[in-house]
Order: sequence, then C-alpha cells, then structure tokens
Amino acid sequence: MDNSGIIVLNKPRGMSSFLAVQLTKKALSAKKAGHMGTLDPLADGLLLVGINKGTKLFDKFLHCNKVYRTVFKFGEETDTLDSEGKIINKNNVVVNSEMIENVLPSFVGKSAQMPPKYSAKKINGQKACDLARKGQDFELSPKEIEIFDVKLLRQIDTNVFEFEIFCTSGFYVRSFARDLAKKLDTFAFALSITRTKCGDFSLEQAQTLEEIKEGNAKVYVIEEEDGIRFGPSGNSPSFFEAGYKTSVEAPKWLKSVGLNAYEYSFGRGYTMSIPTAEKIGQEAEKYGVRVSIHAPYYINFANPDEEMKTKSFGYVLKGLEYVKAMKGNHFVFHIGSQGKQTREEAITLATNRLKEFLETVDLSAYQDIYLCPETMGKYLQIGTYKEIIDICTISEKLIPTFDFGHINCTMKGELKKVGDYLKIFNYCIEKLGFERTKNCHIHFSKIEFGDKGEIRHLNYNDELYGPDFTPLAKAIKQLKLNPTIICESRDFMAEDALIMKNIYKNI
Ligand SMILES: [Zn+2]
Ligand SMILES: [Zn+2]
Repeated sequence: MDNSGIIVLNKPRGMSSFLAVQLTKKALSAKKAGHMGTLDPLADGLLLVGINKGTKLFDKFLHCNKVYRTVFKFGEETDTLDSEGKIINKNNVVVNSEMIENVLPSFVGKSAQMPPKYSAKKINGQKACDLARKGQDFELSPKEIEIFDVKLLRQIDTNVFEFEIFCTSGFYVRSFARDLAKKLDTFAFALSITRTKCGDFSLEQAQTLEEIKEGNAKVYVIEEEDGIRFGPSGNSPSFFEAGYKTSVEAPKWLKSVGLNAYEYSFGRGYTMSIPTAEKIGQEAEKYGVRVSIHAPYYINFANPDEEMKTKSFGYVLKGLEYVKAMKGNHFVFHIGSQGKQTREEAITLATNRLKEFLETVDLSAYQDIYLCPETMGKYLQIGTYKEIIDICTISEKLIPTFDFGHINCTMKGELKKVGDYLKIFNYCIEKLGFERTKNCHIHFSKIEFGDKGEIRHLNYNDELYGPDFTPLAKAIKQLKLNPTIICESRDFMAEDALIMKNIYKNI
C-alpha cells in the first residue's frame, strides 16, 4: 500500500508543529509531509499531518473547524497570553463560575478577533512574535472568526477554570482568554491548550510520535475524487471464497477490490457485539470505507400499537449506537407497513411518531449520524419516493434512502430514462434542499416484481426487470450528487457494485 494520506498526531506540549512534522516525516521515511493548521508550541493535542500525496489535501483540511480544551488563569496577563510569557498586568479580582456563565453566550457567533502579539502572523514579511520579542511596536489586524459553542467545564482552583470551545480555524484560544477576561474587568492567560478535534478527526484517534516511530503509524486514506461511493450490502460469497472469515475483514477486502462503502445489515436483529462493531469501525477508517447500517426489518413507525412505538424507538436508538461504533453516518430503516389503516392515517401516524422520536430522544451523542428512511418495493409498505421525501421534511436529521430497485417495482418497470431519475432528485432538491439531496443514500439492484410489487432481488445481468444503472449514473453526474451507493444484488453485491462504479466512471 502506498503510504499517502493523513497522520493524526498527538503533538506533545513544548514542541513546535514544524518539528513535529519533521519527526513524523523521518519516522515514516516519507518524501513529503506538511501539517494542516499549526498548533502553538505550548499547546498539545491534535495536529493533522499530510504524508506524501496526502499533502495535497492541505486545502481540504486547513479550514476545518476545531475543538479546544483550555485552562485559563484569571487576574494576571502575560505578554504571550500563555504561561511562557512574563506577567505584564495583575489585579485582585476574583471571578466565579456564575460571572463567567453570564458573559460566555455573548461570545457565540461571528466576531472580529485580534490575534495575540506573539503569533505567527506576518507583518511586512516578518513574524509578529519575532517583532514582539525584539520589543518593536506594530499593529495587527483583527480576523473574522466564529465560535459555535463554548462551555465552562469546571473550576480547578481560585481564578482557574477549564473551558471547551468549538470554533472555526484561525481562532486564537489565547486571544479568547484576553477578551473573555476583559468582559469581566480583569486579566487572564491560557495555562494550557489542547486541541481535541479537527473536522471529523478527534484526539482519541491520534497517535503519539513514539507510536509512529515504533512502526505502528495509522495512515488515513482520504478519497480525493468526488465523494460518490460504491459498496455492497453485506458480504459477497466471493469475500468468503477469497479466504476471509468475518465482517471485521470486510473493509480491507473492499479497499483491495476498489470499493469504498459497506452496508452492514441488522435485518433480523442486533446480533453483533458493540466491541466487534468498533473493530469494523476502526478497520473502515483505516481503509477509507464508509459504513452504513440497515436497521432490523421489524421497526415500525406506522403501527398504532403503543408498545410497538416504544420498541421501535428503542431499536432505532440501539442501531445508532452501532452506526457510531462503526464510525458511519447513515442509518437506513423502513418506516413500516400501512396495516389496516388508510394510507393517509398510516403516513400521519408515522410522521408524528418520527417527530416525537426526534424531539424526545436525546441524540446529542449522534450528531454526525443521519436517519435514512428507505423507499419501499411493496405497495402496502409506506415508502414511495414522494412519501419518503415528504417525511424527511420534518427534520434536518433525515435523509432519504432511494432504493431505485424498489421504486422501479412500484412503477411496474417504468423507471427507465435519465429524466425519470431527475424527476425524483429534483423533487427532493425542491423539498429538502441540494445539500441533503447531494448526500442521499442509494440502494441499487435489479428486482423482480409482480402484482404486489417486489418479489426478489436479482443480479445485474438480469435483462427482464431492470432498472438499468446507466441513466441513474447520468442523472447523478448531471446534478453533481455525492451519494453512497449500496448494491443489494443477490450474491453478487460486491461484483455488481464494481460494475456500477465502472459504468459511472465511463460516462
Ligand atoms: Zn431495506
Ligand atoms: Zn434496499
């Protein structure tokens, strides 16, 4: 495997970002290396280092949002605004949590922040910190930053408090210490700063230089092309024929055959342990494969029975735990069956229940995860493409799963032209906006149908039922969508996913 990608480094306190990159480069014998957003020498935590071709991803990661944990000392200010500098201001003000909590909300949102004098900002080609050290006077200009969230975590000592800040890149924690103190009519500086998140990367994934030197470097592979992904639902018989035994090995195998998505189906229930799911997640991350999961078929949001409602809520919540463990972000589920109700009654009930679920269940642990209700292939199941899109309008947390094999079944085989697909996507764009349509989830396979709709899944070589993938590929290209496309062919899901990938590439 070519050693190109991103190293998620845990930079120690006291080391410059430059040196950290040089040491990483040396340990990996890499030709090229560069960091994606500097971290003060006195700060520690997450530093993203691009390795070889990974350095080209600079633009993609430099501007990603960051999370910091930091400890401030109030009542004193140092010239560097950290513990390295000398004290230049002092008073006897004692601040308490309540005073801090009162002013914190006023920092949330966009504002112009003045960088610290001791920073790497350039003044006429010279670093501001070098000028400051020489005692020269100069003016810096404020920079637009945004704080999305700031929390007071705890008081450690008199005038010593710990915070967590979620902000844009370019934000200076040290400046924030100064500005926060000013609002409290006092001074402050940062005793410690730890970067815990950079975009989707978090400190838990980070490795120390020692671990990298020991030869255990984890290189994150980032797909540079467009974001469209192809993969199978479950493991193809060919996976086992190739000598692999468990789903934990699936990401490695998928990467080797040229696929980068994988849907794990819990159709008959959650039979896997969470630690195993976590192993799959680690492997998926390592090999650049995005995992989605399919919920148990017995979830039903359209059943009037109260007990069924409670159970369904529980099943969804349980499923989200698995998505998180597998580091995925799509949770695919079926809305449910119409039962003895009218169509309208069933849809209203399902919509209200989904609303209730989203409003009453605490989903804060699953912020990057989307619930993806699927279009269905049998008439009695809730899930025409319009029904699914309409249901998704109730929350940003919902993104449709378009199963075009199913849609073709309920259209009696009439899903044929590029225009047929464009019509579906355009309805989605109109109702949910482009972003959510762009990131939709797709199931694709040819499916036999009859009077009641879907009968059974077929392989891509079937010529009788369809649908054909080419018009869908054209519609996706035309609209510049980035869906995850999961192939649900019978037995040949990985092989057919590759056929689809090639069709898409050759358009
Ligand atoms: Zn399904
Ligand atoms: Zn499906």
